[in-house]
Amino acid sequence: MKTNLLYHTNSFTYECTATVVAVKGDEIALDATVFYPGGGGQMADRGTISWDEQNEQANVIAMNKRNDIVWHTIDCAPPAIGAQVVGSIDWDFRYQMMRTHTALHILCGIMWKELGVQVTGGQMYPDHARMDFSMENLDRERIATIERWVNEAIVADYPISVYTLPREKAFAIPDLVRTRINLLPPQIEEVRIVEIVGLDLQADGGTHVKHTKEVGGIKITRTENKGRINKRLEIMLLDSPEYTQS
Ligand SMILES: [Zn+2]
Repeated sequence: MKTNLLYHTNSFTYECTATVVAVKGDEIALDATVFYPGGGGQMADRGTISWDEQNEQANVIAMNKRNDIVWHTIDCAPPAIGAQVVGSIDWDFRYQMMRTHTALHILCGIMWKELGVQVTGGQMYPDHARMDFSMENLDRERIATIERWVNEAIVADYPISVYTLPREKAFAIPDLVRTRINLLPPQIEEVRIVEIVGLDLQADGGTHVKHTKEVGGIKITRTENKGRINKRLEIMLLDSPEYTQS
């Protein structure tokens, strides 16, 4: 049994019909879902599942992906196995998350391309995010430059493409090797790739927008010293870049 992960094939699908294939307490598994279960720093989706011709509706309050099955924790008595349901995610929340997630890819790509700096971790929230980098120097001037580079890349409107590669092929790409691709479980034969064409390449299971312009803009709101060679950057999502083009 496997859940068809519709958020992987099209991140812009916010609703789908599905069949309940398993029930465990207050968790239900569906044959297909639009709900992102969380992971890779991206928060799980929220939303509703309705059934009995929409007469019954539950809120999805937590998500879990175990093996190939996505489990939705709901806040009322679950539908029976075999029931037809409609799953709808909170699209505003998800789309913000997609913009934030994409912003982090841009930041990551810029830091590597311009400064040769590697990312060491990150976490995103709907409209802001933080990312840690292994670097020594992060003064005010450099922060301003990074912010400008990221906003310029947003405006340049790079396309973002999502595809899968066989494991061996993915492992042969130097840009992927520098990320955490080596942490992928050995049983994974196909690697999902998210590429900001010309800027960033990642093995990634999350959801992203289609063009960098959709991000809007970012502001670096805070930095923190997490060690001699570890710096944290916090970014906030903007509806448009704040910088003035020179
Ligand atoms: Zn991603």
